[in-house]
Amino acid sequence: MESSTTKMPGSAASVRNACKLCSPLGASLVFKGIHGCIPMIHGSQGCATYIRRYIISHFKEPVDIASTNFSEETTIFGGHKNFNLGLDNIIRQYRPEVIGISSACLSETIGEDVNRLIKEYRQMNWGSELLPELVYASTPGYQGTHIDGFHETVSATISTLAVKDAKVGEHINIFSGFVSPQDIRHLKEIISSFGLDYVLFPDYSDSLDNPNWEKYHLIPPGGTLVSDIKRTGAARGSIEFGYILNEGAMNTRVNKAKQVLTAGEWLEVNRNIPYHRIGMPIGIKETDKFFELLEWFSNKPTSQKLKDERGRLIDSYVDGHKYTFGKRAIIYGEEDLVIGMVLLLLEIGIEPVLIASGGTGGRLKQMIDELTEGKTKDVKIMNNMDFESMNEMADELKPDIIIGHSKGYYIARRLNIPLVRIGFPVHDRFGAQRLQHLGYQGTMQLFDRIVNALIEYKQENSPIGYKYI
Ligand code: SF4
Repeated sequence: MESSTTKMPGSAASVRNACKLCSPLGASLVFKGIHGCIPMIHGSQGCATYIRRYIISHFKEPVDIASTNFSEETTIFGGHKNFNLGLDNIIRQYRPEVIGISSACLSETIGEDVNRLIKEYRQMNWGSELLPELVYASTPGYQGTHIDGFHETVSATISTLAVKDAKVGEHINIFSGFVSPQDIRHLKEIISSFGLDYVLFPDYSDSLDNPNWEKYHLIPPGGTLVSDIKRTGAARGSIEFGYILNEGAMNTRVNKAKQVLTAGEWLEVNRNIPYHRIGMPIGIKETDKFFELLEWFSNKPTSQKLKDERGRLIDSYVDGHKYTFGKRAIIYGEEDLVIGMVLLLLEIGIEPVLIASGGTGGRLKQMIDELTEGKTKDVKIMNNMDFESMNEMADELKPDIIIGHSKGYYIARRLNIPLVRIGFPVHDRFGAQRLQHLGYQGTMQLFDRIVNALIEYKQENSPIGYKYI
């Protein structure tokens, strides 16, 4: 399913069990974060099936993703008939406010001009009350990873819908990236506590983690309102989480001349909206940066409740450092999540021995070395990594713990060491949509889980069945 190569010493010149997923998966997640939106992948049916299977398994929610269902004929003569039929069917069955269209390998390889197809469809249906907003993101599977597809779709949605020449409002934009529904709920609580008006996009905190329904909803409730996405174009500032964002897509783009700005960058360039880029607020230092920005935007101090959360986190570091200090960790996953986790590990005295991502941004080492002020300069930091290479390196590195998503479980099992599951996908545990990573609260949960995994390992492997520590 994934392309691109990695060249590790002694390893094959191909990806074996890639540490990444494909681009339209990220696009589908973003479209699930728009109110009244149905995602449609312009490609073969297998793309939509694989992506639905991954999302459903992680979030445990029903997920409809339409497909234009490419066949041999479509591949040779173009997909315009299937494209129009797909849109007609979705409108008839779902009456959506938005259809989020992403491309896949096949439609991109034959050079399908999706923007032209959209233009023609709009012309054919001009004046129809049922015609929804049509948003398109170019996301071939061989371009970057699911995270690149995610950020490029956020950007495509904003550049399609954000208002122009509107009076600047009091609100701010938050582009929080690919975080869990629980993280999004917590972010909304934090921002509201400063009394700020805001637009957070994409917001799948309900649509991918909904309460029990009395009746079935064709389109799950929740998501950022289209009216709110439009007003991102009149905000007084944007905050975007992530140091790497969609740089992997830029490196692997077939059309090298085409640069896609992130949503925050696009609004700065095209709507003159001041832009603040920070890392994912994981750990005390990175979370402090987020709170400083919120204080600045709101002109209000952080609430006592949140200050107390920070104080409790520091207290827990003091209480728990004896379990974490000097432990060796392998950490892998999406580049910006990995950066946040490395900064947290250094705060709690854990030594990363391998920092890896399937991401193709190429700046992971440089970024981490800068943020850690050289503390990681001798650590193996790998872009474009796969699990087989990681597995081969693991014995020599002698890790005490692995931190990443569930696809690395087999390495932890072989080494008989704990795996702390974070990020996406988590296919082998319950409650992944409620895992918290962000803010002082999310950091506390990560810290507790890491400490408990180490304690549990020691207890399980002790010849004495001790009951307290
Ligand atoms: S977009 Fe490409 S890589 Fe992704 S599922 Fe479809 S064929 Fe596979």
